Amino acid sequence: MALTGVEIFKLLPKTNCKKCGFPTCLAFAMKLAQRQTSLDLCPDVSEEAKQKLGEASAPPVRPITFGIGDKALKMGEETVLFRHDKRFVNPCVFALEIKDTLSDDEIKNKIEEVLTSEIERVGQKLRVDAIALMNDSNDVGRFENAAKIIATGAPDVPVIICTDNPQAADAVIKLFTDKKPILYGADSTNAEAMAEIAKKYKSILGVKASVSGGGLDELSALTEKIKSLGVEDMVIDSGARKAKDILRDNTLIRRAAIKKNFKPLGYPVITFAQRDESLFETLIAVIGVAKYSSIIILSSIEKWKNLAIFTLRQNIYTDPQVPMQVEQKIYKIGEPNPESPLLVTTNFSLTYFIVSGEVENSRVPSYLAVMDCEGLSVLTAWAAGKFTASKISQFIKESGVEHDIKHRELIIPGYVAILSGSIEDKLEGWKVTVGPREANGIPAFLRSRTA
Ligand code: SF4
Repeated sequence: MALTGVEIFKLLPKTNCKKCGFPTCLAFAMKLAQRQTSLDLCPDVSEEAKQKLGEASAPPVRPITFGIGDKALKMGEETVLFRHDKRFVNPCVFALEIKDTLSDDEIKNKIEEVLTSEIERVGQKLRVDAIALMNDSNDVGRFENAAKIIATGAPDVPVIICTDNPQAADAVIKLFTDKKPILYGADSTNAEAMAEIAKKYKSILGVKASVSGGGLDELSALTEKIKSLGVEDMVIDSGARKAKDILRDNTLIRRAAIKKNFKPLGYPVITFAQRDESLFETLIAVIGVAKYSSIIILSSIEKWKNLAIFTLRQNIYTDPQVPMQVEQKIYKIGEPNPESPLLVTTNFSLTYFIVSGEVENSRVPSYLAVMDCEGLSVLTAWAAGKFTASKISQFIKESGVEHDIKHRELIIPGYVAILSGSIEDKLEGWKVTVGPREANGIPAFLRSRTA
């Protein structure tokens, strides 16, 4: 069970030395109880207290790293039920299923789809992160053959080996030694054998309750049993496959882990979203992204589907208390010369990436003055008094852009057309031009000026 703030306080040195950054040990204890700080910040805590508190202050959802190197994927470590309470920590993993019943060429094509799935959005690289190899054939040889193609074709991509046959698992997992794969398929019939293989190859074990409705009781009993066999890193599957069951079980699992600190369910959740109908599959994946899945298995890769689920994942896993922002500076787009246009906007990441993308689309080399407005978009920053005529004028004067350009024309976003006169008053010798309201109007606007 989680300790209360007062119980934690009793274990602290009680010197109020402030080395942890909090004014008192009690304040620190309260934050620890809410999982909003780390015990490591107190340098004077005793070993005995550390041991007692370590377990209590460990994240309720076990942190697990899947794969190795640059493509390694962190899962778990979640501490809240609702994103607005703090933040969701480790974005869910999307994995493409590859069935071992496919031909070699079909498997290679699927691998290629995973390797080329990456897109860039708001400065972040988003992709289908992993491959789930399915032993649909029930044949060890075919499973091994498909695994070999994946191990060779996508050596850096984390792999989930899906089989409930220990013999097939043992044959295939050898190909991913030292790559921290997930061996998915431990259930009440094979737990000992699968745990043995996971331990031997230092892999994560995927544990599943019966799809027929074993549910969370069966799952908790299984994780306890497997833990007693020496396997600590697990991902869990309640057996839910229908949308409403996934939503219910994922919620119950997260609630048990966070609210009750119930360790048998304190593991990342794996969700199988595959459907024949792409739109339906997307909707199942969306439920998983929004409600607590750490891994979502997909049957196919389509660009529209990726865009929808990548965007949702990115939105849900950004910290709501920290606006996404870019550095304040004058960005050069293309190779601008002293006659090139100068545009100004705010430093909200999405604004910057959309505006800079549209300037790039125009093929008119330009200067983009990005002003620090604490990560707010144009209208919000204007309404908050952070994107005002005096602040814009001061920013332009201090930016040094006057050394780079010969002209004295500043293009402002159409949404703040109202500022044009007052900027001209404050920026002596400058002409202010009102640009388009929406960024998608920028290419035509810039091109019309050079025509
Ligand atoms: S560093 Fe430790 S002893 Fe000092 S105030 Fe913080 S909790 Fe108390």
